[in-house]
Amino acid sequence: MEQKKSRLLRLTLMGGQARVFLCDTTAMAQQARDIHNASNTCSAAMGRMIAATAIMGVNLKSDGDRITVTLNGGGPAGPMCAVAGPDGKVKVTIEHPEVELPLKKNGKLDVGGALGKDGQLTVMRSFGFGEPYVGRVNLVSGEVAEDFAMYYLESEQTPSLCALGTLVGENILSAGGILIQAMPGCTDELLDALEIRAELFGSISQLLQEMTLEQIIEACFRGLEPEILEELPLQLVCDCSREYIERVLLSMGEAELRDLIDKQDGCEVTCHFCRRQYAFTGEELRALLREAARGDNA
Ligand SMILES: [Zn+2]
Repeated sequence: MEQKKSRLLRLTLMGGQARVFLCDTTAMAQQARDIHNASNTCSAAMGRMIAATAIMGVNLKSDGDRITVTLNGGGPAGPMCAVAGPDGKVKVTIEHPEVELPLKKNGKLDVGGALGKDGQLTVMRSFGFGEPYVGRVNLVSGEVAEDFAMYYLESEQTPSLCALGTLVGENILSAGGILIQAMPGCTDELLDALEIRAELFGSISQLLQEMTLEQIIEACFRGLEPEILEELPLQLVCDCSREYIERVLLSMGEAELRDLIDKQDGCEVTCHFCRRQYAFTGEELRALLREAARGDNA
């Protein structure tokens, strides 16, 4: 089956009274499932997280800006983390991707059970320079979409309707999400119209399986003057490198590195986001320490 390219559409309704972000992230969710060898429930959790974080990422202003979202609910799957930028690049990880739970009574995957809801959703915006901005809300359900909606309401004072979905079969059948935000001056008529259609958005994963993004807009926003402003390609990709891992190793401190050299003559480091492995021999670690010492003296 040929996979649709992951992409995001940004649009307005009724001449700017509300803004909408709609994305199809099916291919990215499949990639994440493969990379992390994830269970169905954890695939669904990551699928939702990828869509929500991608939407936050494209709202960043400058190239070097990054958004890092962590959902830590104390569930058996452990914390889940995703990073996105304004260029549509996203990476995601979850601590225990193998965790599987029985389906809920309504037949749906128990994402909230796997992630837990006793904890927080933390959003860190880092800019090319200066202190990052950190916002945090208590989790509502651990089902991801409700938690993001709460974040937008509490942390950004923006009433938002957020729906995220991932349909999992043998493979990922569909994944994506929609965020609708009322802008200042939004009329009650539009709010009512969106309220009525909220249930439709709740089945976003079904919509994505059957329709293109343009067809969804046509079907869901008929009569609300949808205007597409921008289309952005999205991509699941990790930006780690050997140089980056070297910096991480050095940040552990000299004593820790000496320990790795003395006890095991090297180390192997796995990137949490792409599971790529980086091996360092004892000699390479010693060279790293010498280089750092020279740098300090320079
Ligand atoms: Zn990586």
